[in-house]
Amino acid sequence: MRNPMFVYDEKLADMIFDYCRQRLSFDPVPLDYGSAGAAGLNEAVAGLINDHGTDPQRVLDVFTQHLAEAVVSCDSPLYLSFIPAAPTKAAMLFDMVVSASTMHGTSWLEAAGVAVAENQALAVIAAEAGLPETAGGCFVSGGSAGNLSGLMVGRDTTHHRMGAKAPERPVVAISEEAHSSVGKAAHVLGMESLLIPCDDHRLTGAAIRSFLDGHPRADDVVTVVATGGTTNAGIIDDLAGIGALARERKWWFHVDGAYGCAALFAPSVRSRFDGIELVDSFVVDPHKWLFAPFDCAALLYREPHLAKAVHTQDASYLDVMHTDAPEEWNAADYAYHLTRRARGLPLWFSMAVNGIDAYREAIETVLAVTQQVADLIEATEGLELVRRPELSVVMFRKDGWTRADYEAWSHRLLREQVAFVMPSTWEGEAVGRFAMLHPDLTVGMIADILDTM
Ligand SMILES: *Cc1c(COP(=O)(O)O)cnc(C)c1O
Repeated sequence: MRNPMFVYDEKLADMIFDYCRQRLSFDPVPLDYGSAGAAGLNEAVAGLINDHGTDPQRVLDVFTQHLAEAVVSCDSPLYLSFIPAAPTKAAMLFDMVVSASTMHGTSWLEAAGVAVAENQALAVIAAEAGLPETAGGCFVSGGSAGNLSGLMVGRDTTHHRMGAKAPERPVVAISEEAHSSVGKAAHVLGMESLLIPCDDHRLTGAAIRSFLDGHPRADDVVTVVATGGTTNAGIIDDLAGIGALARERKWWFHVDGAYGCAALFAPSVRSRFDGIELVDSFVVDPHKWLFAPFDCAALLYREPHLAKAVHTQDASYLDVMHTDAPEEWNAADYAYHLTRRARGLPLWFSMAVNGIDAYREAIETVLAVTQQVADLIEATEGLELVRRPELSVVMFRKDGWTRADYEAWSHRLLREQVAFVMPSTWEGEAVGRFAMLHPDLTVGMIADILDTM
């Protein structure tokens, strides 16, 4: 007799597809509430996993009635904390196709079809950044994994090039505003992070030059990381100046654009990223502002063969994966991973069916709303804008408010399902912060939120 776990069950399929249909049709997506009590949730799931199995309807009911609502929906336009998400309907639907197909995203041998589609989507992003047609890479789980994988190639490539002059403990120059994952990646790689102070929170080539002038570790720098839109404030570093300096000193130039580099697609701000075409590697997260579902980060290299030399895993059982075929492209060879989900396909499908103009328009809409929100804050008595937004993050102060005030307000708004707006910190002080990337968000929705302060 066949094991029943592997037999298609029409009833179970209908149950799941019905739920998916319903979730996908929510308009608007309810915000829901993440911090339900642990006791109630644990009680709801108690005994569901046992030796003989539980009725699927009952398990799904526990999921829909208890678990799914105990999650703040990142795809609600009212999710305005950290960095939200706003996957397109086409991308979400195609994610289900990926799930239903168990496609390997690892090698040409197993999944040439996946490689071709993912590479088509990567080529669109590479072209937007002005990289040569020979650029390439792969999709990884997130910006953190992308930064680690890119910096690993930078470390080993420069080490190889420097030969006997290679430093024992290589140094990576990063801005004090860099994302925490960059410092973590340096730590994993045994590299020392040199924190470069910046003027007005923006790293420039000139700042690095003057900081390193006479610095005892100046000769040990092998890599520089710039940020293409800081997470907290959306500030874009001087990519042109930093890139030119990196070329001059033969450093590896990596840009962390996990959040902000989506705006490469927005003509109104594209020039702020000038210099990105100089990168050796860069990361942008389609699961942030390029409207893909989790988890999807694009990692691109100017010269992918350098990444392949560093990341290819040698194991006797894998030898068959590597042939001399010129078209062969193994995503596994371009980052620190082996088995991987075909996570670029939802983005690929959505780009194909919607067209890139729809992406440009969606990003421009968010940029325009952000400017209107900044205007509104400037015009509102008792509120103060921290700085004019460059991308789609707005930070602001309320006269007389302390961190406790912002936190109490945030928690009340979430409890009452008004919005998810956690405070942040700016120059040591608690501030309000809206991180916006959902094209359905309007300035009216933000005005309603500000009225509750
Ligand atoms: C979000 C973010 C990261 C981390 O990306 P994950 O996808 O969460 O791993 C890194 N850098 C920047 C600038 C980010 O905004």
